[in-house]
Amino acid sequence: MIYLDNAATSWPKPAAVPRAVAACLRRAASPGRGGHGLSREADKIMFAAREELSALFAATNSSTITFTANATDAVNTALFGLLAPGDRVVTTSMEHNAVARPLRALENRGLILDIVPCDHTGALPLDNLRSALKGGAKAVVATHASNVTGTIMPLADIGRLAHDAGALLIVDAAQTAGVEPIDVAAMGIDAMAFSGHKSLLGPQGTGGLYVREGIMVEPFRHGGTGSLSESDRQPLFYPDRLESGTPNTPGIAGLLAGVRYINKRGLENIRIAEYQLTADLLAGLTQIPGIAVYGPPAGEPRTAVVSFTVGDQDSGEIAHRLDREFGIACRGGLHCAPWAHQTIGSLVTGTVRFSPGCFTAAADIAAALAAVADFAGA
Ligand code: PLP
Repeated sequence: MIYLDNAATSWPKPAAVPRAVAACLRRAASPGRGGHGLSREADKIMFAAREELSALFAATNSSTITFTANATDAVNTALFGLLAPGDRVVTTSMEHNAVARPLRALENRGLILDIVPCDHTGALPLDNLRSALKGGAKAVVATHASNVTGTIMPLADIGRLAHDAGALLIVDAAQTAGVEPIDVAAMGIDAMAFSGHKSLLGPQGTGGLYVREGIMVEPFRHGGTGSLSESDRQPLFYPDRLESGTPNTPGIAGLLAGVRYINKRGLENIRIAEYQLTADLLAGLTQIPGIAVYGPPAGEPRTAVVSFTVGDQDSGEIAHRLDREFGIACRGGLHCAPWAHQTIGSLVTGTVRFSPGCFTAAADIAAALAAVADFAGA
């Protein structure tokens, strides 16, 4: 089997990840909720994971990182905790439903939403953003990279324009955390959701939210934090403010092992390797007659995501056949991102999405290309 669905979740995980999960289940208990050795062991895991992640994002300190169940949970925490009825929010037409749906839910409660159109490659023309911001805004909400086209948004420019207009920049880094360099201060990011189970190589059920120091996100979940237990009021300090209830310590132990693997191999080395595989995919696919490839032109920056269609054939059917007949695991359909498909013009067919990961080999790409050629009758 050839796995080309890393944009959904990375697979396989480095061997250290399941080992760390199992070790945590054997040797750690509830973090922050006891003075005994098993609890202290859990504390160490949580603290080390926060430290590694804040260093990865060049954050000022590790309490800017709070753990969540996934990127969706983190986006919801940020949007519902920062925005109020009457606020104006500017977002892009390439957002995943993890952003679109909470924004629509907030719109039903009185939020004013402005969706800035991106071009057919998924790129955001900055002039479009500039004019949307003329009316002022409470926040700009933008993906760092599209899960449909791999298009990388110019976050530093977006951050500058947002701040000039007095708006916060809230980022969905589900597709980039762990594989694209992220410097939250240099990019002007005020809050950033990330997924633990994609390029960060951790287990499913992990993710997190970075919140810049000084920004107060109103929690929607209140409860025990293991701190200030004499009070029946939610602690105001991070990360406890947003982390009520016992966390997914085994998952976070696995996420910590994933981040350590990335640091050992080198994020830049992984990024370059994935970029090369993506370039090979693009070069091969564009040679096959009858195939339409979406996203940025070859040579432009992008994540390891390539979407294509075969004539007007249903992409779900193609993905199904690639799996059954050629052993290629990929994804067809709309990838939870109808806005993005509307933008690039593939809302009717959806796209077949190949997303290599850090364990994909050049031979896997060659085999996938041969399968597509065979499939397309080339
Ligand atoms: N945002 C983008 C761009 C994604 O690709 C995804 C997952 O596919 C998400 C958000 C949601 O991530 P999670 O599954 O961690 O909630």
